[in-house]
Formats: sequence, C-alpha cells, structure tokens
Amino acid sequence: MEKSIIKLKNVSKFYYSKGVIASGFSRVNLEFKMGEFVVITGESGSGKSTLLNVISGLDSYEEGEMYINGEETSHYTEADFEDYRRRYIGNIFQSFNLVNSYTVYQNIELVMLLNGVKKKDVKDKVLDLIRKVDLYKFRNTKVSKLSGGQKQRVAIARALAKDTPIIIADEPTGNLDSRSSKSVLKLLSEISKNKLVIVVTHNYEDIEEYATRKIKMHDGKVLEDKQLKKYKEVSNIEENDYKNIRFLSKLRLGIRNTFNIVPKFLLVLLVYLFITTALISEYASFREEEHIESISGYNGFFLNTDEERIVIKKEDDTSFSDDDYTKIEKMDNIDYIIKDDLLLDTEIDISDDNYYLSARVNSISNFNGKIDKGRKPENDNEVIIEGSKNDYYIGYMIDEIMDKDLYLRDMYTGELDKSTPIKIVGVSYTDSGIYSQDVIYVNDSIIDNLTYQINQMYSNLKILFQGKYYDSTNYDMYFRLVPKRIIKEGMVYIPSDLDYLCKNDYCIGSDIVIDIDNIYYKDTLNLKVEKSYNKKNIESLTGIKDYDSVNGAIFISSTDYNKLFNRNSYQSSVFVKNVNDIDSTINELNENGYTTLKLTDALVNSEAVAAIRILKTIVTVVLVVVLFFISYFVIKVILKSRNIYFTTIRMLGASKKVSRELLIIELINVANIAYLLFGVFLILNYFNVVNVGFAHIILDYMGIRDYILLYIILITMSYLISSKFAKKIFKDSAMKTLKEEV
Ligand code: ADP
Ligand code: MG
Repeated sequence: MEKSIIKLKNVSKFYYSKGVIASGFSRVNLEFKMGEFVVITGESGSGKSTLLNVISGLDSYEEGEMYINGEETSHYTEADFEDYRRRYIGNIFQSFNLVNSYTVYQNIELVMLLNGVKKKDVKDKVLDLIRKVDLYKFRNTKVSKLSGGQKQRVAIARALAKDTPIIIADEPTGNLDSRSSKSVLKLLSEISKNKLVIVVTHNYEDIEEYATRKIKMHDGKVLEDKQLKKYKEVSNIEENDYKNIRFLSKLRLGIRNTFNIVPKFLLVLLVYLFITTALISEYASFREEEHIESISGYNGFFLNTDEERIVIKKEDDTSFSDDDYTKIEKMDNIDYIIKDDLLLDTEIDISDDNYYLSARVNSISNFNGKIDKGRKPENDNEVIIEGSKNDYYIGYMIDEIMDKDLYLRDMYTGELDKSTPIKIVGVSYTDSGIYSQDVIYVNDSIIDNLTYQINQMYSNLKILFQGKYYDSTNYDMYFRLVPKRIIKEGMVYIPSDLDYLCKNDYCIGSDIVIDIDNIYYKDTLNLKVEKSYNKKNIESLTGIKDYDSVNGAIFISSTDYNKLFNRNSYQSSVFVKNVNDIDSTINELNENGYTTLKLTDALVNSEAVAAIRILKTIVTVVLVVVLFFISYFVIKVILKSRNIYFTTIRMLGASKKVSRELLIIELINVANIAYLLFGVFLILNYFNVVNVGFAHIILDYMGIRDYILLYIILITMSYLISSKFAKKIFKDSAMKTLKEEV
C-alpha cells in the first residue's frame, strides 16, 4: 500500500467569532493518496470548503494532526504553510481568481514567473497548457472578456502551470452552466493522472464516471467515504521545486502592471504629477526666499550688499596698481571693478530745496540695466537713477524731478554743491522689494570728486602753523581742506581765526604744514599762506557768499588737493558676472595674492529673518509629510482595486517581499514618468515655448542637486507607500484576505 500524501487524524476546525464558537468540521479522519481523483459532496454548510482550506494550508486547524507526506504539521508556522502551498497545492476556486486585466497567456505565465521559471522557458509550456484546455484561439484575449467556463479552464491551466502534485478545486463549476460544467470536470479528470485531485461539486452525476472516490460530508462530519474505482498508483511524489522569481521577471511584471489598467495608470500619474508639482514649487519658493534672505541682510560697514560683489585687498596691504587691475580684469567671470570701493558704501544726497533723494553711487560705465523712462546721459552732468517703482520720489514724483536742477551734497561739509548742478535724465526700475536701495549712476568726474570727499572724510588732518600743531579731531579747532582753482599751487587761504596770532596780514607768506593720515597712507604738504579770509572779505576772495558754510575751510589749490587725495586704492571691489561661480572667482583672486570678502558672507540677518527662515523650513517639512499622507491615501484608494491582484499572486506563491517589490516597480515607473513630464514642462518653459510663472521660479532657483534631492524624496515616498500597502495585504492570513476579496 502506498504512503498517504495527506493524512488527517481526528482533525477539528473551529471558528471563533464574536465570542461564539462554530464548528467548521470535527474529528475528521481521512487519507489521500497520489493518483486519486476525489469528489466531495454534501449540502451547503457541511464543512467541505473548510476541509479543503485546511488541506490547502490556507487555514489552520485546532485539534488533531494533519500529516503531509508523513510529516506532522501542528507546529507549522505561517511561513511553513506558505512553503507547503508553493510545493504541493494548486487551487481552483469557484470565482476563478484570475487577473482580469491580463490575457490568458499572461495569467498562466504569471504563476511560472512567480515560481522562478525563466522567461524563455515559459513560452512553450504556457502554449501547451493553453492548448490542453482548448483556449489557443483566446491566448491573447483578456480574461475579462471570457465566459465563465473559459475562465475556469484558464484557472485549471494555471493550476497545472504551477506544477504541484495536489490540485484542490472548491466548487469549480459553481458559476458555470451545465455544459461548461461537464467540460471543466472532464478536464479535471484528465489532468488527475499522476496527481491527487480533490474536487468539491454539486454536479456529482457529471463527475461520477471519472471519480475514483467519493466523500460525503454532513454537519462537519464525514458521512460516507467510498472508493468508486481503482486508480493508478503513483509511487514518487514530484513536489514543485520552485525558485524565487527572477529579477527580470519582476521588472517585466512591474512594468506590465504599470500600464495594463489604463484608468488606474492615469489616476496614479495624476497624483504623482500633483505631488511632483507641489513638492518642487514649494521647494523652489523656499529656495527663492532663502536666496532673497541671503542677499538682503544688513551690514554696518557696507551699504552696497550686491550678491555679485567681492571686496578685495592686497595680501601685503599695499595699494592697487594698474597692473593689478588689468590682471583682475582678465580673470573669468569679472563684470567690473570699482577701484575706490568706499564710494560704493557711501550714500549721497541729490537734492534741491524741495526734493531730497539719497542713493548709492556707481559709475555710469557700469550701468547694465534697462532704461524704463527717459534716456541715457549725454553730458557730464546727466545721471541715471535706479530704484523701486514703490519709492515715493522715483516711483511717483519722477516726472517732476526729472526736469529740475539737483545738487550733490558735499559729504564733508554737508552743503549742497550748487556750482555743479546735475540732472536725472533716465530711470531704471528694479523689481526688488522693500530692501531695494536707489542707485545713482554718474560720470567719472563726479566719481572722482566724491572719492576725494570720502578720502578726506576718512582721513585725520593736522596743521603745523606758527610752531603749533592743530588737530582737526580736536573739537575747538575744526579744519578741512577745500580745493579752489583760483589758488596757485603751494599756496593756501586760511581763516582769520587761525590768523589771530598774526594780525594785519602778519602771517601772510608764513609756512604752513599740512599732515594727513588715514588707515592706508600718510602725507605731508609744505605750503605758504597767501591770504587769510573773514566774514567780510570771503565773497571777494572766493566768490562764496555764505561765510558760515565755509567754516573751518583751508582753501588749497586743486593740484595740491589731488596730490593728497587722488591715491591708488587700498581696497577695491569686483563684481562678478555669474553669482553661481562666485566661489571659483574668489579662489582665483586668493591664488593671485588678494584677500577677499564675499559680501553675502558679511551680512547679518536679523533675528526676525532667522525666525522666519526656521518657520519656513518647518512649513516645508510639514508640507512634505502632509503630501506623503495625502498621496498615500489617494494611492491606497486607487490601488484598492489591486488587492485582488496581490491576493491572487499571493495564492500563486508570491511572498510579501515580491508583492512589495512589484508594487514598488509599478509606482516608481509612474513616479519617473511624472518627473519626466514635469521636466519636459520645465524645458518648454526654459525655451519659452510656454510661459508659466512658477516654472521660472523653479528654473531660477533650483540646481542639479535640488532636482536630485527631490527625485530621491519622490522615490522614497513610492517605496514607503508600497511597503505600507504590502504590509496591509499581508497582515491577515492568506485565507482571510482571500475571503475578503472574493
Ligand atoms: P460548505 O463549504 O460545505 O458549504 P463551509 O466549510 O463553508 O461549508 O462551512 C462549514 C461551517 O463552518 C458552517 O457552519 C459555516 O457557517 C461555518 N463557517 C465557515 N466559515 C466561517 C467563518 N469564517 N467564521 C465562522 N464560521 C464559519
Ligand atoms: Mg463551500
């Protein structure tokens, strides 16, 4: 006598639900052998399905012992049963459990791929099986288009493709008309050779002629167990020696699953496009804000905080020579050099009695904006002003101001220099917001004039006169040097206050030594007093009417004045063309012996700005998390229809890991497509084929690293969603999931 492949000894199955215990079947003793074709009958509720589920390893049992191939199974874990099912059991269900969106061929191929068969070894076997169940004509038809009988034949072919020794069919004809029923049962009998086939059916008459054994159940008990005919015994059991699914097969299935249900694909794609857009736009606007903050701090020393600016000095603290400037100008990425860079950080006033504008200064030759109003300067006294449209003077009063003569306020004296009126002839509007500062672009003679004023402002002035030192920092003696063209080189006019020692022109012709020093240089001029002035003669001597305005002035010749203050710079600023490459420019400058300060590094952001920045970071992180959950739930709802698919492949032997991986491939495919589509959208914007505002923010503020980061976030999200979904499907036992889904 052959050994039983399955043996049940006093096995009982109970259901516990809501505190009530129901019996599925009790104290059943049965043995099954290879080669048998067993038909189980019995009225509804008699325990047939429960029995098959226990035998299939889909459900546990509570009492007794079930032996598989002689081995006890009471200690089996869920994983042991999964392995058992893959090796031994092919299930056929009343409701087919096929993948409706797959073709006949793909359904049968699926089980082979899941069991690790190579793609190239699959084809012939699948087609053989399809011929066997007489569906060759329909091999490329989607299962959803087949009749019930045809579907069950596909299910039989699939069970055969799994190549297991046992096939268990629970009411395979329950949904079929009598003609289909007959052909399905006949088919089952044909495949039963060399296998153990157990069939539950109500159509006993149709199967009687093939069945080798009949079991009748009643009320959870075996009522009758009768051998109908002899069967051909099978001595060796060929269990399915399955392998794990191959990587390429996984990829192939993942890609197939991505596209085979078009509405599902489009919905998931839509979700992904939404996530991608939201994520990238939020991130880009965060970057934009970060950028604005980085260039909009303040600094106590520098008024001009342009992000393109680098302050440079020579490493050996000497002044810049022309050679230095030519060398620097030749470097890549240098837009222009401001030699006297103190000028950049000085605000000057351009006013008359009614208007009061203040602005930073730059040379007209460095103006590269566009003129929104008026024109470019044509004379030395014409200037361009650049500022915000929201500015009162530049935005609203500009038409009035452009007609007027305006004057520069002397930085040193605080007086308006009415000798040289200037006119605003052009306006350029910037789009920057509250931090914007007006800039006035002037010709180089005004620049020189301002530079001297600044140099004097930063210098300490001392006078040696009549054997006594007078220091301009000393409050009771306040001096300053004022250049006058009418004065001859080497001569000075002094205020009579100084002259009190030498009344009645006593001091005329006497020596006066002028010492200046500042942080960069010292100089001395030996001059002679030509005249002294007072309130009465000031106008006749200099043409200046207002004596108070010249308070403390020592008039010297323009030549002497230039000698003192027209100096090579010790500190200059370079402006780069492309801010993104500023660090390499800084490196190049350092390598050539210049010390550098990047302006944006010298900025101090206020605490409020820092707080806003932290807040913004939190908002971005929260948004990513919220986005993740929204998309998880939306995708979960969309994938709900896929539960059947995943339960089915689980029945066919896919592990949790494989199911998760298939889903990951599917979602990552969609993520890639969404990302790609978004990329195309950006490229179209880049080339101005279409023009969408936020696309340009993205293009302006996102770098390659940001795109990679966001891509990684997107892929990680897909991974997490897949894992969560797979976990949910595998939370319950195979049977429970199956029952829920079917
Ligand atoms: P059959 O397949 O012969 O119609 P079943 O095996 O489905 O019968 O059911 C056997 C008994 O077990 C019935 O009394 C049924 O009510 C009970 N039963 C089946 N499944 C469950 C379940 N999940 N929970 C509780 N009782 C169940
Ligand atoms: Mg049943």
